[in-house]
Amino acid sequence: MRDFSQSHDMLSLNTATVRKQLGVETPLPKILDQCAKLGIRAIAPWRDQIHSTGLVETSKLVRSLDLKLSGVARGGMFTATDDAGLKLAAEDNRRAVDEACELNSACLVLVVGALPGALQGKAAHKNIALSRQQVTDGVGTLLEYARKQNMPLAIEPLHPMYAADRACINTMEHALDVCDALDPQRSGMLGVAVDMYHVWWDPKLKQQIDRAGRERLLAFHVCDWLTPTTDLLLDRGMPGDGVIDIKQARGWVEAHGFNGYAEVEIFSNRWWALSGEETLKTCIERHKTAV
Ligand code: ZN
Repeated sequence: MRDFSQSHDMLSLNTATVRKQLGVETPLPKILDQCAKLGIRAIAPWRDQIHSTGLVETSKLVRSLDLKLSGVARGGMFTATDDAGLKLAAEDNRRAVDEACELNSACLVLVVGALPGALQGKAAHKNIALSRQQVTDGVGTLLEYARKQNMPLAIEPLHPMYAADRACINTMEHALDVCDALDPQRSGMLGVAVDMYHVWWDPKLKQQIDRAGRERLLAFHVCDWLTPTTDLLLDRGMPGDGVIDIKQARGWVEAHGFNGYAEVEIFSNRWWALSGEETLKTCIERHKTAV
């Protein structure tokens, strides 16, 4: 297992972690500049942040600051109520692949979607099996395109509390079932993003990491599960502040040869209330002690 205690070379910052600073939305160029100043060498930007800055401008900045991308967040949201909706989702996902390519990302992270309309407050139906079929079909179609562009797709299983509105793939086992069905040859072009916030509780976590193996372990996201958690979306903890044994899981992933970044991904009103520098310095410190 790699020793992170002396440096933060393998820390990647998911840019949502400091999307707000002192409570104010912060533009991506400022975040990238802050990373560079603090010696953070990798990032995972969100597409809405990329679009606000512009893809070309973002690409220029990434290159000039010599930042690597552990991922782009995010593609997915494959489900819809009709063919037109499915087509729109497919088109948007091809654009996401193109953007990830332009930024030379290690992968495109997929949050696959769930019951259409649920995220907006009213689910169009209760047929989660249908949603899961649409997801498998959507990932399969996108995989054909991603292969041509040489951009690996990382399915991120989300905690079951998001099964209705964000992702109907909620376990590593389910994500890997989809991978096995669509990419039986284990080409390295389809795998999983292991986000500890979503999967730490799973009694099959180690077993499924072992099943995934090197070809399917494409990303490793870290934050912590606070007790109590006061918000389902915006109360993720800083590594070390909660109950997740991140180091143990990192050991499991690295036992298969995973040598990518540990991506800190925290959506938290607590941390968004602070200055970016304070949050980033704490990420660096915790990367050395708790990741
Ligand atoms: Zn994640």
